[in-house]
Amino acid sequence: MEIFKTIIEIQSYLQKIKKENKSIGFVPTMGALHQGHLALIEQAKAENDIVVVSVFVNPIQFNNKEDLLKYPRNFEADAAMLQSIGCNVIFCPNETQMYPEPDTTVYDFGQLDKIMEGEFRPGHFNGVAVVVNKLFDIVQADKAYFGEKDYQQLQVIKALVKQKNLKVEIVPCVIVREDDGLAMSSRNMRLTPEERKIAPFIYQTLLQAKKNRATMSVDILTKWVLAQIENQALLTSEYFEIVDATTLLPIDNWDDCEHTVGCIAVFLGSVRLIDNIRLK
Ligand code: AMP
Repeated sequence: MEIFKTIIEIQSYLQKIKKENKSIGFVPTMGALHQGHLALIEQAKAENDIVVVSVFVNPIQFNNKEDLLKYPRNFEADAAMLQSIGCNVIFCPNETQMYPEPDTTVYDFGQLDKIMEGEFRPGHFNGVAVVVNKLFDIVQADKAYFGEKDYQQLQVIKALVKQKNLKVEIVPCVIVREDDGLAMSSRNMRLTPEERKIAPFIYQTLLQAKKNRATMSVDILTKWVLAQIENQALLTSEYFEIVDATTLLPIDNWDDCEHTVGCIAVFLGSVRLIDNIRLK
């Protein structure tokens, strides 16, 4: 496994790979790797000759300084995990590599980055788009793998690729969960034992919401989910929205679109968690 810290080094290595006509699968991450990340990497391995994983905690996508400071970092453990599953290349640049000067790019994704996460984390998706665009430019992958765990991020990345006419194919990957249903996340390790016991309630509520869809209107179901969260000690909801699975625009009736997804963001103590479920 090769480990590169600079753009120039990884680019010269990948140029050779390209000349050999080998396909490149790319998995961008912020490290603190878990089985959710590894599932993306396994899929990338199965579909490409070479797998590149980036590990970079992107400061400009954090709207909350404390969240950035507390974001778990453990490169040694990440590298060991990546080595053991047969990753070929790690790209782990520092901030100066990625941002030799402040990046002032402003993307226009219409409503896509303004609702839900966009509303509660202003500037977040612009920061994500900036770093992903830079990484795509560096790696020149054939396929890039993104988890449906960050459902809105996936749609923003698809919009970025379309807008910039990039050649990379975006491959969505299903959410990997703990046995008790909690969506795996690097932030889960910040939960106290008491909070960790409560955490599966989020997915249980989403599963029950899917069942309730048969008998409840969009509006009633939205209120029902929010009430469940508010009634659970230590949980506070930021939003629960039922949206069109493609445009992410809120719907009023189940018949408004073909596929709908319910997206939720909650605070469990001081840890912010997101999850989502296909409702239709
Ligand atoms: P992150 O390191 O949180 O930026 O995540 C890197 C990639 O892994 C993103 O595409 C995430 O959507 C994906 N990912 C994170 N957690 C999960 C999970 N539990 N299941 C599937 N994909 C995930």
